[in-house]
Amino acid sequence: MEALVQINNVTCGYDSKVIFQKLNLSVYRGQFAGLVGPSGAGKSTLLKSVLGIVPLIEGEITVAGERINGRTPKKVGYVPQIETVDWNFPVTVEQVVVMGLYRHMGYLPWPSRSDRKRVGELLDQLGIGKYAHRHIKALSGGEQQRVFLARALVGRPELLVLDEPTAGVDLKTQHGVLHLLGELNRSGVTILITTHDLNAVARHLPWVICFNHGLVAQGYPDEIFTSTVLSRTYDSEMAVIRQGDVTLVDDSPRAGHHFKKKEQEA
Ligand code: ADP
Repeated sequence: MEALVQINNVTCGYDSKVIFQKLNLSVYRGQFAGLVGPSGAGKSTLLKSVLGIVPLIEGEITVAGERINGRTPKKVGYVPQIETVDWNFPVTVEQVVVMGLYRHMGYLPWPSRSDRKRVGELLDQLGIGKYAHRHIKALSGGEQQRVFLARALVGRPELLVLDEPTAGVDLKTQHGVLHLLGELNRSGVTILITTHDLNAVARHLPWVICFNHGLVAQGYPDEIFTSTVLSRTYDSEMAVIRQGDVTLVDDSPRAGHHFKKKEQEA
């Protein structure tokens, strides 16, 4: 398989604080990978290094052969955490998506008729066409998520990067978003997401990368989601329950203690 993202010997951090060092990691064309690990493990920093938002202290990252050098490559679409968006900014849904077309220009020109047509089609495809002229603030969390997905997709990216797409939305929307991402992946888009929801990864994602200030393990979820690997990733005991084809991770607080107690009782 051909690597779409190649991370070579990369050290990254803020000021003098190193978050991870000498990392080597590849994301292959066609992959749909979930990056998991505890809060503060450096997952967002890793995504931002691929996006060219966080500068590299050492090493090199290429996307489709293009070296990242302080700006997000054209071939990459990014969906931020919806909690980090300033909702007071006075823009409509259509305008947010149009921004995805012109992000490399440094200014926002009046969109052409064909641009507006493309945006309209994409919004329809994502089931939010009727909201094109609404203020972005007037939508539900799941709908806002789709608007940012449309903004990321409008430039026809080869790689889609999403930071916590399942955070802050209800369970039904979470499944909807992951299903949609699965469809996009089948249509040829390579996808890298961070998420806290290990059970959603186990159910929906074909590949998982465990990260804690460095790569702990990566592979198919049913191989990677073992108590040993997850406990190493989270620096805390984690229980994994298997029932037939279904893998369930007990990621409630003190899951390890709970599990131990049950084992003792048995
Ligand atoms: P995760 O996404 O796994 O929760 P982050 O990459 O957001 O982890 O954070 C890793 C570490 O980097 C944390 O200790 C966090 O406080 C720190 N950090 C994140 N962003 C910045 C920043 N802009 N400036 C300084 N430190 C930061």
